[in-house]
Amino acid sequence: MKLFTVGPTQMYDSTLEVRAKSIPYFRTEEFSKLNHENVKMLKECLDAEESTEIIMLTASGTGAMEAVVMNCLNENDKVLIIVGGTFGERFVDICQIHKIPFDVVKLEDGETLTEEKLYQYNGQGYNALLVNLHETQTGQLYDIELLDRFCKENEMYFIVDAISTFLCDPYSMRKYSIDVTILSSQKGLCLAPGISMVALSERMQKKVEKNSVLSLYFDFSDYLKNIKRGQTPFTPAVGIHYELHDRLEKILERGVEAQVKEVEQRALFFRKRIKNLPVEIPTFPLSNAMTPLLFENEIAEGLVAFLKNEKGQMVNPTGGKLGKRSIRVSHIGNLKLCDYEELAENIEEFLIKLV
Ligand SMILES: *Cc1c(COP(=O)(O)O)cnc(C)c1O
Repeated sequence: MKLFTVGPTQMYDSTLEVRAKSIPYFRTEEFSKLNHENVKMLKECLDAEESTEIIMLTASGTGAMEAVVMNCLNENDKVLIIVGGTFGERFVDICQIHKIPFDVVKLEDGETLTEEKLYQYNGQGYNALLVNLHETQTGQLYDIELLDRFCKENEMYFIVDAISTFLCDPYSMRKYSIDVTILSSQKGLCLAPGISMVALSERMQKKVEKNSVLSLYFDFSDYLKNIKRGQTPFTPAVGIHYELHDRLEKILERGVEAQVKEVEQRALFFRKRIKNLPVEIPTFPLSNAMTPLLFENEIAEGLVAFLKNEKGQMVNPTGGKLGKRSIRVSHIGNLKLCDYEELAENIEEFLIKLV
C-alpha cells in the first residue's frame, strides 16, 4: 500500500532500517548526545534563535497542542484563535477545558484569512495568538507575514501549530518572531507517530517558568530542565528519537530548502495533472503538503475505497461536513512524480466509470 496521506506517510528506506533495530537503554551519555544533536538539527530546520529550547514529548500532536495551552497560557491571558477547520476547533476545545479566555476568528467554508478579516480584532487587548498555520482539514495555508505583523502590532505571543507545514512550506521562527512551534513525528518528518516536539522562544521559556501547571506528565519546566542534559523526565519513545536523528541528518545534507522544493514540485505536478478532470481545488492559498479535491457529487467515499482496494493507494478522506465530497492528497513522504501520475490516472479511471 502506498500512502498519499498527511501522516503517517510513506516512509524512507533509511527510517525503516533504523526502525528494525532493537531499542537501547536511554539514560546514557550516548542517548543524551543523540538528543543534543536532534535539538541542534531541529533548530536549524526551524531557523530558530540560539536561545530557543526544544522539548520532546511522547504524545501525538494533539497532546503537544494541549500541553502548550496548559504551560504557555493561563486564566489571565486573552487569546485569539484562528478557526478555519477542525484543527482550529481543537484549540478551542482545549482552551475551554483549561479555562483559558479566548475569542475566535471564524472562517466560513472556502473563506481566505485576509488582512481585513484579521484586523477586525486589532487593538482589543489580545496577548496571544493560536494558529494551525496549515489547517489540515481544508488545506488552507495562512499568511505567516500577516500573522507576524498582527502579533507584533498587538504585542502578542505568536503560537504556531506547524505540524503539517514543517518541511513542506518555508518556515522561520527567527524571521517571523514565533514564540512556540509545535511539531509531530508522523507528518513532514515522515517518521512513526509517537513523539511531538515543542520549540519555545526565550521569552516564552520565561513565561512558562512563571506558570504553575496542574499536571505532572506535561509540566514543561521539568522537560526544560532535563533537555539541558539531553534527557526527558520520563521514558521517551526511544526508537523514534533514533529515527528522527537519521532523518534530520538526511534532510540537512541536502538542505531544508531543497526538501521544501521537492514537496512543492510534487504538489505543483499533481495540481497541474488533474486540471482537466472534473474536480475543484479551493481558491485560498494552499500548503505544499496537501491538495484537497472537491467533487460535485458525493463520491469521495467510493473513490477512497477504489484507490485503496483496487490500486493499493491510500489517500486521506476528509472530516466534517465536506467529507462526502472531498478527498485530500498529501505530497509528503517517500514518493516520486510517477506515483502522482499513477494516482491521477487512477482517479481519472474512477471518474470515467461514473459517467
Ligand atoms: C496531524 C495534525 C495534528 C496532530 O494530530 P494527532 O492526531 O494528535 O497527531 C495537529 N495539528 C495539525 C494541524 C495536524 O495536521
